[in-house]
Amino acid sequence: MKTVQVNVVTPDGPVFDAEVEMVSAKAESGELGILPGHIPMVAPLAIGAVRLKNGKETELIAVSGGFLEVGANMVTILAQTAEKSDEIDVMRAKAAKERAERRLSQKEEDVDFRRAELALQRAINRLNIKNNGF
Ligand code: ATP
Repeated sequence: MKTVQVNVVTPDGPVFDAEVEMVSAKAESGELGILPGHIPMVAPLAIGAVRLKNGKETELIAVSGGFLEVGANMVTILAQTAEKSDEIDVMRAKAAKERAERRLSQKEEDVDFRRAELALQRAINRLNIKNNGF
């Protein structure tokens, strides 16, 4: 089986570095599937799951925006934040989700709704990934 080298990095350091058979990620334009030999490209990422497939195993990583770059048989994901599913703290994500929902339900004008919406999306994404990808 052909493979492609994948690196997932964040400002805090590397999160994943290995060969995989297929990468899927949620770009702003929609879901992307990348196989070995894919043409070079760069795509902005949405809050979503990166799926790294190897045989019957699929590793899930929660990312919250950034860029995916395809080079010569290499995929680099520069993410704002990235956590492997086994690194996700469920209690923390649940607390973040409740906090964001509380803010979104407030009527006060000083609530930054866009910020709360993004926090809610990040929390839901982490919880979905912990539940094995939706
Ligand atoms: P919180 O309000 O709980 O900090 P957040 O969505 O605002 O959530 P981020 O700004 O996206 O947090 O992330 C800050 C740092 O904390 C990043 O390093 C990220 O990987 C980590 N992180 C955030 N939430 C979790 C979680 N539920 N489990 C593990 N790591 C997390």
